[in-house]
Amino acid sequence: MFHVKFVGKIPLSLERESTWVRRDLRSREPDTPLILDHMEVQYNYKCESCGHEWSEKRAEIHKES
Ligand SMILES: [Zn+2]
Repeated sequence: MFHVKFVGKIPLSLERESTWVRRDLRSREPDTPLILDHMEVQYNYKCESCGHEWSEKRAEIHKES
């Protein structure tokens, strides 16, 4: 049995992209600004039975508007 504990996450890098999207279907042009944060995040884990620690890198995209 594994007893894996999630220890925490650390942001490694952040790239912010801003774009325009069309939210109002009546308009022809994009009308709403949308911010996308492309993040690289390190997730840290620890095995509770043997104390072994490891980490995983993941790419995440967060939307802000
Ligand atoms: Zn273990």
